[in-house]
Amino acid sequence: MTIDELLKQHNLRLTKPRQQVFDVLRQSAVPLTISDIAKKCKNVDRASVYRTLVTFDQLHIVSAVAIGWKSYYELAEPFIPHHHHLYCIHCQNAEPIQTPELEQLVGYLSRKHQFAVVKHHFELEGICKNCQQTKQYKK
Ligand SMILES: [Zn+2]
Ligand SMILES: [Zn+2]
Ligand SMILES: [Zn+2]
Repeated sequence: MTIDELLKQHNLRLTKPRQQVFDVLRQSAVPLTISDIAKKCKNVDRASVYRTLVTFDQLHIVSAVAIGWKSYYELAEPFIPHHHHLYCIHCQNAEPIQTPELEQLVGYLSRKHQFAVVKHHFELEGICKNCQQTKQYKK
């Protein structure tokens, strides 16, 4: 499924802002804030970036990741594989991680409580390995 096909299914066109926001997210290895995205989208104003993200969110093209009190955006499945993050509060890097154990737990809880899970969030905040080796965090 391409972004173009997905938009067409909803009678939407792939406009310049939509294309740019999508490209910026696709080229980023880490989730981005609205400001990050706006900065990287040339000739697209912040309001258009925001509207585009709202549309993308409704169509499940992006997913919002809440880390601390900030919202970050990244492409959703099927554009990138399902994953969670290790967020370093020092260097602000959000490392993607695959967590089969966690996915199993979600499945187990869903069955146990007969609850149809639509979405789940799991982000760890802490100090990454690199930052632990810097002076400030040395024991
Ligand atoms: Zn770090
Ligand atoms: Zn991610
Ligand atoms: Zn998961």
